[in-house]
Amino acid sequence: MIALRDVQKIYRRGEDAVVALSVGDLSVERGEHVAVVGPSGCGKTTLLHVISGLVVPDRGTVVVGGTDVFAAGEAARDRFRARTIGYVHQTFNLLAAYTALENVALAAYFAGGVHGADAGDLLRKVGLADRLQHRPSELSVGQQQRVAVARALVNRPKLLLADEPTGNQDPATARQTLDALRSLANEIEATIICVTHDPKVAETLDRAIELPGSPGEAVA
Ligand code: ADP
Ligand code: MG
Repeated sequence: MIALRDVQKIYRRGEDAVVALSVGDLSVERGEHVAVVGPSGCGKTTLLHVISGLVVPDRGTVVVGGTDVFAAGEAARDRFRARTIGYVHQTFNLLAAYTALENVALAAYFAGGVHGADAGDLLRKVGLADRLQHRPSELSVGQQQRVAVARALVNRPKLLLADEPTGNQDPATARQTLDALRSLANEIEATIICVTHDPKVAETLDRAIELPGSPGEAVA
């Protein structure tokens, strides 16, 4: 499903350069549920950004579902992402003016609404049956995260990228979110890549990829 070869992303500011991500060889099979672990700043979020085509690496190749992500232009990448990938961002990126239900339903609408699952049904499955009409500011952080999980799955993506999707939840809520995420992903046979710093979360997935990374390493 995913193959990265010799991928590097460097952020430069003036004389300074930070290696945000350096991956020699990384493969994930279709249908696998993989955790990405490693210390803060080692490049976990950057890895998901690169896989989704949101961030262009300085070198290397990224193949997702047989498509060379960076061989095509930006517009083609955007279409590919919308069709193939569901993304739970670390910062959720919910639309503040809209309810939980609208946030999920709008994601289906923007994708053409053809293959969309039922937004209310998804929210019920992540435990938010009684929060459909609440706006993000009226939800706890953990509840907002679960709205983001429902939104990421509404278009039945082949690949689910989740960036610390249980990071702000108590253990019981985290368990509920993760169970929902995995069972919904299983229903649509989605591959999961889940960034987490929680060993308990990592344990429940098929395997873990550890990003070594020297955080903030300066290069010439
Ligand atoms: P993680 O998710 O593992 O905590 P990130 O992928 O967010 O780490 O960041 C990896 C490194 O790249 C960090 O040192 C971070 O400061 C740096 N970095 C990330 N995004 C940017 C950016 N847009 N500009 C400059 N540096 C960045
Ligand atoms: Mg991160």
